[in-house]
This record gives sequence, C-alpha cells and structure tokens, in this order.
Amino acid sequence: MDSNNKTMKLRSNHTEPDDLNLFYRAIFEHNPDTVFFLDTEGVIEKPNEGFSDILGYTKEEIVSNSIEHFLEESEVPLYKDCFHKVLSGRVQQLDTIFIHKNKGLLQINLTLIPAKFQGKVIGVGGIAKDITEEKETANELIDTELKFKSLIEEAFVGVYILQNGKLIYGNPRLHSLLGAEDSTSPITFLDYVHPDDHAGMIAVANQLIVGNTGLDHTFRIINKDGSIIDVEAHSKRIYSHNKSTIVGTLQDVTERKKAEELNKYLAYHDPLTELPNRRFFQEKLEENLIISNTLQQKLAVMYLDLDRFKYINDTLGHSIGDKLLQQISKRLNICLGEKNILARLGGDEFSVILPNITREDQINRHALTIIESLEDPFFIEGYKLFITTSIGISIYPNDGQDAQTLMKNADSALYKSKESGKNTYYIYSSSMNIGTYKTFSLELGLRNAIEMNQLEFYYQPKVCAQTFQITGAEALIRWNHPEWGLVSPGEFIPLAEETGLITELGKWVKYTACAQNKAWQRAGLPAIPISINISARRFMEKNLVKNIIQTLEETQLDPKYLEIEITETSVLENEKVVLSTLDELKSIGVRISLDDFGTGYSSLSYLKRFKGRIHTLKIDRSFIKDLNKEDPDNSNFITKTIIELAQHLKMEVVAEGVETEEQLQILKNYNCETIQGYYFSKPVPADEFVQLLQKGKFEILQKSHGEGINTLDGRRRYAGMNLDFPLVASMTLVQIGGRRVELGKTNVLIENIGLEGMRFLSDMRLTVHPNIILEFETKLFHQTIKMYGSVSWMNEVQADIFQYGLEFLVAEKERSELSRLLNQLSAIE
Ligand code: C2E
Ligand code: MG
Ligand code: MG
Repeated sequence: MDSNNKTMKLRSNHTEPDDLNLFYRAIFEHNPDTVFFLDTEGVIEKPNEGFSDILGYTKEEIVSNSIEHFLEESEVPLYKDCFHKVLSGRVQQLDTIFIHKNKGLLQINLTLIPAKFQGKVIGVGGIAKDITEEKETANELIDTELKFKSLIEEAFVGVYILQNGKLIYGNPRLHSLLGAEDSTSPITFLDYVHPDDHAGMIAVANQLIVGNTGLDHTFRIINKDGSIIDVEAHSKRIYSHNKSTIVGTLQDVTERKKAEELNKYLAYHDPLTELPNRRFFQEKLEENLIISNTLQQKLAVMYLDLDRFKYINDTLGHSIGDKLLQQISKRLNICLGEKNILARLGGDEFSVILPNITREDQINRHALTIIESLEDPFFIEGYKLFITTSIGISIYPNDGQDAQTLMKNADSALYKSKESGKNTYYIYSSSMNIGTYKTFSLELGLRNAIEMNQLEFYYQPKVCAQTFQITGAEALIRWNHPEWGLVSPGEFIPLAEETGLITELGKWVKYTACAQNKAWQRAGLPAIPISINISARRFMEKNLVKNIIQTLEETQLDPKYLEIEITETSVLENEKVVLSTLDELKSIGVRISLDDFGTGYSSLSYLKRFKGRIHTLKIDRSFIKDLNKEDPDNSNFITKTIIELAQHLKMEVVAEGVETEEQLQILKNYNCETIQGYYFSKPVPADEFVQLLQKGKFEILQKSHGEGINTLDGRRRYAGMNLDFPLVASMTLVQIGGRRVELGKTNVLIENIGLEGMRFLSDMRLTVHPNIILEFETKLFHQTIKMYGSVSWMNEVQADIFQYGLEFLVAEKERSELSRLLNQLSAIE
C-alpha cells in the first residue's frame, strides 16, 4: 500500500513531458552502464555513452548494427534465444561475452527489457554491465579454493578443524588415521585419543586458548580397528565466525618411533640372546654404584666365562654354538631373577650385577645356582651338550669403588677360577699372584707367538727297547717367550684351546713337523716317523683330514712318516666322529697313537673297537714311574696287562717317561717294544736331534739317572746352609723383562740359604730367566727380611713340585744384614 502511494505521488508530481524526458535522459545518457535500445530486429537504434565507453566504439560505429555484431560468436545462439523471449514480452537476463574494439573479450551481464506500446512489443531496451573484473575475481577465488581443497584432500598429513572439541572438518587422511572414514555423526576428537594421552591433550588445548602461537605436540590415536598410532601434531587457535577454533595437522610417526625404539634396543641389547649388552651393563653398573653408595649397600659384580665353549663352536659349528648361547642365556635369566642384571659381554662371556648384597653367602648362593643351572645337558639339533662356566666375582666397596676397577677385579678373579679347574667361582681377593699373572700375560702374548716366530719344536726320540735304535720321534712344542723364557706346552696349549688359537697353532704344528721331517730325509738322515700331538677337540675338527692331506702334499712327505698322537679322552668323548676320522686317516696311510693311555679311565675292553685303527698305544708316564722290581703296589702288573692286551690287539706299545735302568729292564721283560723317556734323551732342539739321528742308535748307558735328571739349567754355584726345618717365605714377582709389576704373594719353602743365593720348593712352574726378578719375604729371629733374585736352575722333584735355585741380587747393605742373621743361624745349628 505504502509503495503504491509513493508511485502515485511521483506520477502526480512529474507528469510534464519535459520533466519526464529529462529524467529518462539522465538515466539513459549518464548511466555508467551501457544502456541502449534495439528495434525488434535486434538492431541498435540508440546507445548511450557507456556503450562506447565499454566497447570502445564510437556511437556512429554502433548505431544501425545488430547487437549480435558485438557478441562473441559462440554466444550468439544463446543471445538469440533470449531475444526471442524478450519479443514475447518477458524480461531476460544473461551473462554473455562481448568483444571490445581493442581489448578483446568482456564479460557482460545483459538485461533485455521489452518496450511495449499498447500491449505490443515495439522494441527492446537493454542494459549491459561489465562484469569482467568481478568474474575474474570470482574465478580466481574458485581456482584458489580448488587448489587448496585438492591440496588438503590429497595431503599425506591429517588436517583437522575443531570447535568445542568436535571435528568440523577433517581431510580424508585424518579420517583414515581415526578409522572413521564413513562417520556421518559429528566426531568428538578426544574419543580417538589414547586415554593415557587425554590429560596431555587437554593441557595443550588450554595452552592454545590462552596463547597466540601454534604448538607442536605428540599423542597416540586409537584407530577404530584398535591399532595404536603415534602422531606428531601442530595445532593453532584461530577465530572463525567469532568462534574459537583449533586448526592443525598431524602426522603418523609410528614407524619412525618403532625404528627409534629398535635402534635404542639394538644399541643396548645383544641381538643373539636378546640380553642387555656390554654398554647397557656398564651404564647400569655406574647407576647401581651411585645407588649403593647413597644407601651404603654392597653390590657384587660377576664375570662368567663358559668353559670350553670354543670347542663346541669350532667342532659343531657356529649355528649350534649360537643356539647353545641362546639356551644358556635363558637358563641364566631364569635363575637370576628380575632384581639382578644379566648381560652378555660378547662371545661366551656374561656378566651379572647383584645389587644390595646383605650377606656374604648371598653371593655364594647365586654363584652356585648359576653353576647348577648349567648342569643339565642342552639338547640342540640332536646333540646332547654339556657346558660349565667359571665365575669371577668382585664386591663393592671392598674390591673397588668404581665400575672399571670392579670389572677388572672380577675379571682377574675369573682367571683364578679358570685356573683352579673351571666350573667354579672365585671371589676376588688382593691382586693376582705370579701364577695367574703368568697365565694372563701368556694369553695376551699367544696371538703373536706364531707371527713372531716364537714357537719351536723339541724332538724326543723313541727308542727300540732291544737294540736302542731310534725308531721314531715325538715333536713337542715349546714357546720361546721373550719375558718368561721357554714355556712348556702344558701351560699354553690349554690357553690356545680356550681362545680358539689352537687352530692356527695346529696348522703350524702339522706343517713344521712334516716339513722338518722331509728336510731331514732329503739331507740323507734315516727316515723315521715323527709324531705330533693333536689336542682332543681338534681331533673332531671338520677339516682335520683335509688339512693333513694338504700338508702332506705341500711338504711332499710320505704319509707313513707322519704319526698322530691323540689322547684317550678325546677318543672317549665322541666315539662316532672319532671312528670315522680314524678310518679316513688310516686310508691315507697316516699312523695313529693313543697317548697317555691309562689316564682316561677307559675300560680295557673298550680298546677292541680300535683294533686295526690305532697302531700304537703309549702307556702313560704315571704307570712307568711306579715300576719297581719289588712291585709293592701291583703297578707292574697293570703295565704288564696293558702291554699284553695291546699286543693281543696288534698294537705296538711305547712306554712313556722311562727314566731309569730299572724301569727299562722291567719293560724289556714285558716285551715292550719302544721306549721314550729321559733315560735315553730329553726332548731336544732340532739341531741336537740331528746329531742323535746321525748316530741312529744309543749306546748302552752306564750313567746314573737318579738325581738331577730333570735339572733344566745351570747348577747351584754357591754352597749355602741347609735348614733342618724349611723356612716359609712369601714370593712375588716384582720385575719381568724390565717392567715392574705388583702382584699378590705365594708361599714357598726355603730349604737352603747362603749369602749368594738359596734353594726353595714351590708348586709353581717358574722359568729360568735372568729377566724375571722375584721378591721373597721371610722372618728370621723375629726380623723381617726381603731378598731379591732370579731363578738360576730348576728341578721337577715330583709332578707339580719344583725345586729352584735362586741367585740373589743384593745391595751391600742388605748383604751385611743377611750375613749377620745367617751367622746367628749357624750359631744355633
Ligand atoms: P705328551 O704327548 O704325553 O708328551 C710327553 C711329555 O712327557 C712331554 O712333555 C715330554 O717332555 C715328557 N716326558 C718325556 N719323557 C719323560 C721322562 O722321562 N720324564 C718326565 N718327567 N717327562 C717326560 P712336554 O713336552 O712338556 O709336553 C706335555 C704335553 O703337551 C704333551 O704330552 C702333549 O700332550 C702336549 N703337547 C706337546 N706338544 C704339543 C703340540 O704340538 N700340540 C698339542 N696339541 N699338544 C702338545
Ligand atoms: Mg704325545
Ligand atoms: Mg703322553
């Protein structure tokens, strides 16, 4: 009603034609848009100024032209269609394209209005609006949106927009991370966050609300399928429609996290046994020492080294060795429990931390449990394997304040437990004594011994009991150690076996013995078989026969001149393998001796199985030693039986360790064919053996072979005073090869003492070497005296008891002191 009134008013006020004209002209002429009139044919009758402004044509160029003329060609049909509709009286609007005179295409919004007179359309009024810029902006906007949208939709990271904790937008990646691709109801984001991370997420949200900067944060998503995904997110708070909104991106870092964790695990664990490794152990020990120090607690460090593990590894192969280590680790883990820390240091070495030790027997109990836990056999790939371990223990704070000292001391305790027969434990006390130190330093030097040419063979003849003819020889290895002098095989062969160096050493042995024998034969010396010793486990080595064949080929030695001595124990241990190796060796023509016979506790009937495979039986020295004309303890009988049995089995017999005429005679009576022993000759260096071989035969010996037969070097030069009761003294090594050492003490017994030197007994094998300086401490008349000197001779009085001559190194002052005490002593004697 209101608007009608206004129109009425306008009409009534402006009805004069001039006014109206003016009014229309203003709208027509000064309209910034293009306004024009067309006739019913579409020809332009009248354009306004705007028309030429927009299209760039002059009025004259426009008038009388059809409007189609200014349209882009492809737009014409649509325009025509519209135009027809206008002619039928309807207003039409369309977006179309005009062509500017110079500037190309224009986007135009065209409105066509029918002009009617008496109800009939007599023409068409048109308004053309240039919307080129508008359109371009709109297009650009669409373009940009499209670009961003596709970026976000395709993005590898999840994108989210949250309002009030609800997801108002999430890209497909986000939905797939949540496992909510098909969700139609609004998603509450926290429902998908791991419950343990809720608190953290809420804290992040609170921080975002108060701050202006974005935040990096991590949390775990629980996917609908139940999987847990680690994500790294970056979130920021913005305002959208005046509402606080959180926008952010997140990335799946599960794989990376796993890799990081794996790396960490690998850095601290041993992949084979999955036990913690050395690094972990060291760090844990440091940590536990701090705790023990703070709480004033004791802690024990254990070092474990499996006994003879290397044999298993070498003979049965690494894969069995590995499996054994895995099973051992499991057993140890079980018996140690969770409170104690077990680690594998490498190879067959393990270590344990026993924290909070309250009683001494706690340590012993643990050590025994470990030893007992290995007692039952391990079954691996059809093998039944037995293994034992040696353990060295040091205790905090008694044996060291820091990790390094404790580890070093546990290690040296381990040496002692190895020395005292393995499968046992040893708690560290004071420092190493001469014996353990020697073992320690020999083990270190062994690796170089072959390279540095420090090994040498001594040869001991085997002699025919009847004719004294040399019928063979045994090659016995020696180590010319730069500091310890001549080291006997008994001292380093077990070390070589323990460290695996026996393989290399074995090669040296085989090659040297064959090459030397061949060289002697070439030099025209009588050809004899020379035997080498092959240690028990090496005999089961896979390539043994192959290596022997190769060595024989290389040295061109006839196989019949090579003899192999194996011990009875090696035969007992793995009969099946041994029998087939024996057969192979027989087939290539190599001879076999069974060494140390009688010490392996095999029943004599057992020997039958080796008939035809073993050529020679060597009766162990322990039986020969006891041979006696009176035969009080029946040992003659045993020896006689062994000889008879061997001959019955068509084996030759060698008596080892024959030292006296009496032993020789008894053996001769028993028909023993071959004699090996000091009676004829000690093992001698190659050049001396050549002289023996040149003679070919021993003369009937007239000498007495009792005293001094084992004397290795020099004679005691100075007469001292024999003591009625031996004097106990403590001995230690103070200098070796010019190097000072500090070691624990070992007791010895002084039998005789003078100003220049003394004679003493010890169960330790020492070397005659001027470079080894010993210190002795004893008490005479309540006065402590110290003496220094080096061993000048030695004599093995019985198995493992040695008598030594020591030459003093004394300063004048000390000498006068000693002389005073000795005078006092002689006054009493
Ligand atoms: P074995 O094979 O039984 O060697 C005999 C040992 O008895 C040698 O000791 C020899 O010196 C000693 N002997 C010989 N006659 C007498 C005697 O009349 N009285 C006394 N008291 N002893 C005598 P050695 O040379 O110290 O060798 C000890 C052991 O070391 C050998 O015992 C052998 O088992 C081993 N061995 C030596 N050389 C090698 C080698 O090259 N390889 C391996 N694997 N073991 C070796
Ligand atoms: Mg031997
Ligand atoms: Mg022997």
